[in-house]
Amino acid sequence: MSGRHDKDKGVNVQVIVRCRPLSEDEMRSNTPAVISCNEGRREISAMQNIANKQIDKTFVFDKVYGPTSKQKDLYDSAICPIVFEVLEGYNCTVFAYGQTGTGKTYTMEGGGRKKNGEFPSDAGVIPRAIKQIFDILEAQSAEYSVKVTFLELYNEEISDLLAPEECTKFTDDKSKKPLALMEDGKGGVFVRGLEEELVSSANEIYNILEKGSAKRRTAETLLNKQSSRSHSIFSITIHFKEYTPEGEEMIKCGKLNLVDLAGSENISRSGAREGRAREAGEINKSLLTLGRVINALVEHSGHIPYRESKITRLLRDSLGGKTKTCIIATVSPSIHSMEETLSTLDYAHRAK
Ligand code: ADP
Ligand code: MG
Repeated sequence: MSGRHDKDKGVNVQVIVRCRPLSEDEMRSNTPAVISCNEGRREISAMQNIANKQIDKTFVFDKVYGPTSKQKDLYDSAICPIVFEVLEGYNCTVFAYGQTGTGKTYTMEGGGRKKNGEFPSDAGVIPRAIKQIFDILEAQSAEYSVKVTFLELYNEEISDLLAPEECTKFTDDKSKKPLALMEDGKGGVFVRGLEEELVSSANEIYNILEKGSAKRRTAETLLNKQSSRSHSIFSITIHFKEYTPEGEEMIKCGKLNLVDLAGSENISRSGAREGRAREAGEINKSLLTLGRVINALVEHSGHIPYRESKITRLLRDSLGGKTKTCIIATVSPSIHSMEETLSTLDYAHRAK
């Protein structure tokens, strides 16, 4: 894997790009595609002719996935090695970053449900990671536990996507306080009251995902929110027993965070319409802080500004130190998204 830094330096950030295909609507209206991908050379180019001036920008990333790339290809080449690290006892994080409608949720969750025992071919990173984890743990036959949490960050407030139903039947803000992010006194943080679901087999994953998405939809309607403005974090924590060569028992712990970030268009537009101003500000802040934290880690700068946003505080134990981070930047091929695409590629490139 072509990570940016070797392991003993402790930082390993991989930045990859995925371009979705043109949608049916875009094809029907003959929308020109302005993005071309060369997977072999790990290059992505944006080309456009404006007033007879040719704009042609090429970026090189750790990996590039073109419009015909399959969920399985991306998983096997980019994510699978990260899950192996998690099973060695490391904390790792995968981010999907990009404009709304470019395939963040498709990449992380994917489409479809489980059909007659088989995962659908468009299953995304979350179900595939769960499956790989159980395949490996079951083959090792040692004792283990797998727990998941699923939360949403909206306006710097945390809500639990897995909390039992009775907690979600709220109509006024008073009955539903956002969950608090607490310091654990050992340099770490935890979310007070966050539901942890024990998973006993890979088959349960679609029920859990469905529960989370249903809850996201309800909250969206009740509170007039937009999911494009929230981040969601799906975390898998694994505890497992191992024996040292001397036969001593050892409990290891690894964690994988799978993050579907708010739409990156919120970073460039101020969204100054009334009531939206604060939101846009908060999204800006969290995406920009995340970018700064990753930059600081990659450049080994002394001060890492974790504290400046909730998302980086939450993920602090999984960013930096002995961890692996993968950023999947998603883009649209359409001419109408050119500007957003260039800013996504710029942001992602700066994280390298
Ligand atoms: P986002 O979460 O970034 O807003 P979505 O994941 O909802 O975007 O994707 C928008 C639409 O494009 C969905 O209908 C999705 O199924 C489709 N799509 C996204 N990426 C791909 C892809 N790589 N291949 C096929 N369809 C895709
Ligand atoms: Mg989405």
